[in-house]
Amino acid sequence: MRGLSFDHGASYVSAKPSDPKWKASPFARALRAAEKAGVAARWRGDVGVADADAATSRGDDVVMDEGSFEAFPPEKELFVGVPTMAALPLFIAETLARATKPEASHLGDNAAVGAPEYATNAFVQTLTEPQYPGGRWNLTARIRDGGHVWYKSIDADIVIVATSAPAAAILMPWRGLGSVDDVEVDDETFTGIVQGAAHGVEANACWTLCVAFEKSLDAPFDGVMMRERPEGGYGKIAWFCNNSSKPGRKGGGGGGGGWAYAADDDAGGGSGDDGDDDDDAAATEPECWVVQGSPTFCQNVPAGAASPRVADELLDAFLTLLGKDADRRASIEVTHKKAVKWKHAYPANPTGRVYFDPETGVAACGDWTFGGRTSDAYDSGVAVGKEISTYLELSREL
Ligand SMILES: Cc1cc2nc3c(=O)[nH]c(=O)nc-3n(C[C@H](O)[C@H](O)[C@H](O)COP(=O)(O)OP(=O)(O)OC[C@H]3O[C@@H](n4cnc5c(N)ncnc54)[C@H](O)[C@@H]3O)c2cc1C
Repeated sequence: MRGLSFDHGASYVSAKPSDPKWKASPFARALRAAEKAGVAARWRGDVGVADADAATSRGDDVVMDEGSFEAFPPEKELFVGVPTMAALPLFIAETLARATKPEASHLGDNAAVGAPEYATNAFVQTLTEPQYPGGRWNLTARIRDGGHVWYKSIDADIVIVATSAPAAAILMPWRGLGSVDDVEVDDETFTGIVQGAAHGVEANACWTLCVAFEKSLDAPFDGVMMRERPEGGYGKIAWFCNNSSKPGRKGGGGGGGGWAYAADDDAGGGSGDDGDDDDDAAATEPECWVVQGSPTFCQNVPAGAASPRVADELLDAFLTLLGKDADRRASIEVTHKKAVKWKHAYPANPTGRVYFDPETGVAACGDWTFGGRTSDAYDSGVAVGKEISTYLELSREL
């Protein structure tokens, strides 16, 4: 069995070169630190944008015009987490906790009494407001750790909600889990304001195809973002990339969770297997691709559509995009394919501000506040962190 790895969420991250201070921006610094720690690396593949070929494309069956490919500008440095994208947020969370309090330890790791603890695999089930003036918030967290699931009640003076908009809307009124549509918006209170703002953010669903090919597709590019066509829309695919071209992926990325998953290739070890796993792996490593449906394609997939059907449709559109006609397809062997749906991808109308109210002790940030990229989400976290630290410094001086 050979390992396959797919970054089925963010394919790469980059600090924004459009920001004049981007090289010194907090996100750029975080990326450099992650690179130094060996949990992020530059992706130096041929990545850029391309147009549809007007002559050969038919309706939404788009063929890429290879000649139109334009590499991203060199100042746009692309980073990936190593061995998977999930390594990056984990590194940032742990570094942040230790930078804040060097004695911080992982929740449950025999922390000294009173020492701060952090958890990276926790899901907050309920968020309960302080029961009296000057009281503390209470969180009930479900924590997954090494195959165990346990619950912990945590008291907090300040709570920062850094989830997607729908999750923030649900958490805010401290009602625990429920459908976003169940949420009643109360704009009289600060939590109501945040809840209303989060509730108003529209998100697009995104279907992502993770597909592995027995042999390399010999595609001329490693990552392509399709440009919008003059008549509007992108065809069925907005972005595709060769996951195997990223650093640290060959031989399977291992791990998973969050932004990446690993799969076993059951089709491996076929006839001609001489039992020498190392040599085989090097010689016949499958090529893993991640393909993201365009907004129009994803909107048109009926609710409840079966994932294998969507996977077939995206695969067909992808091979069409690469100009693989019936003859060429006959020689292409797919060893793994899976379509994954992101329900709340790409906030369409970010609110443009973060939220913090010292009186309530609640803060909120995330990509739904600043923009639809990882760098926006990170910047929003930094912005809310600055507001909180300014408040704490001021209250210490008083
Ligand atoms: C398919 C896809 C491709 C993308 N590609 C790129 C790309 O190539 N480059 C790029 O920069 N950006 C990309 N993005 C956007 C990027 O992934 C997001 O902007 C970024 O992840 C937002 O970060 P965030 O912290 O705001 O939210 P999230 O990444 O959504 O993180 C929020 C976290 O909160 C957790 N959570 C939710 N509810 C609770 C709860 N009750 N308790 C505890 N935790 C909770 C969630 O599990 C999640 O881990 C892509 C997004 C999608 C969907």
